[in-house]
Amino acid sequence: MPEQHQKTAEAPPDVAPTQVRYEVAAPKVARIVLDRAEKRNAQGTIMTYQLDAAMRRACHDDEISVIILAAAGDHFSAGHDLSMTEPRTPSSSERVTLWGEYGGSGWEGPYSREKEVYLEITERWRNAPKPVIAEVQGSVISGGLMLMWMCDLIVCSADARFRDNTGSDMGVPGVEFFNHPYELGVRKAKEFLFTGGWMTAADALACGMVNHVVPRDQLSAKVLDLAINIAHTDRFTLKLMKESVNNAQDEMGRRQAMRTAFANHQIGHLQNMLLHGFPIDTSRLPDSVRLNLERAVKNWKATGRP
Ligand code: ZN
Repeated sequence: MPEQHQKTAEAPPDVAPTQVRYEVAAPKVARIVLDRAEKRNAQGTIMTYQLDAAMRRACHDDEISVIILAAAGDHFSAGHDLSMTEPRTPSSSERVTLWGEYGGSGWEGPYSREKEVYLEITERWRNAPKPVIAEVQGSVISGGLMLMWMCDLIVCSADARFRDNTGSDMGVPGVEFFNHPYELGVRKAKEFLFTGGWMTAADALACGMVNHVVPRDQLSAKVLDLAINIAHTDRFTLKLMKESVNNAQDEMGRRQAMRTAFANHQIGHLQNMLLHGFPIDTSRLPDSVRLNLERAVKNWKATGRP
């Protein structure tokens, strides 16, 4: 795709690997790329705060009107990074909320992290004032849905597929940014959550979760065309329209429903703590993931901190 400039997103301090790229794809159009294809763009702390820096950069750049969120490789996102290999705690300068207490005892530390890193930062991106278009290919699993749902428009390739297996496989009742009923409709949302099964791109289009489905080799061009088209509209007017629609959805109870679901999500984690000694039930996960987590549990027990 045409790229006039390609730059690295501002990396948070003390972070070596770059997992998010920042490009200017056309006049007025920023393109942020999740760039961790070797891990299927699993979202850990590093990606989260590099993405936040890229979003801040695009929103604060008065020359940018529209933002594309794309992902390198074959898959948009495998969800949250469960490898436990990255720092768990963002630095004070990175954090976007004032909650704090990451080192709290019991569930206080994990709750503080969940609230900041998964709920509130996703809400912050969802409320970014400029239109954001998700460019989605391949698999989008659980936490990956949050990265897609926080966008205003979603264009996916015909090979895209979606699932939230937190309930069916991990004993947690849906991802933290619980937008399922608003994205899928109530009945589809229940089936999606209860079964943990895959939803196809065609089904996602039929229930209104995505705007367009295109062949894979046309995905980036379609998204860029759409972004350039939107960028013709006055920037301030775009912001006001986005805020009006977001506010309308909030008036339909989205924010309050999400808070209740987040509380239920925490009950799920705590039930797993009581039953399994870890915030998720790992028994149904692939060996590669489960063994990493078991190592983390040992470390947790040794240090008293996740
Ligand atoms: Zn969680």
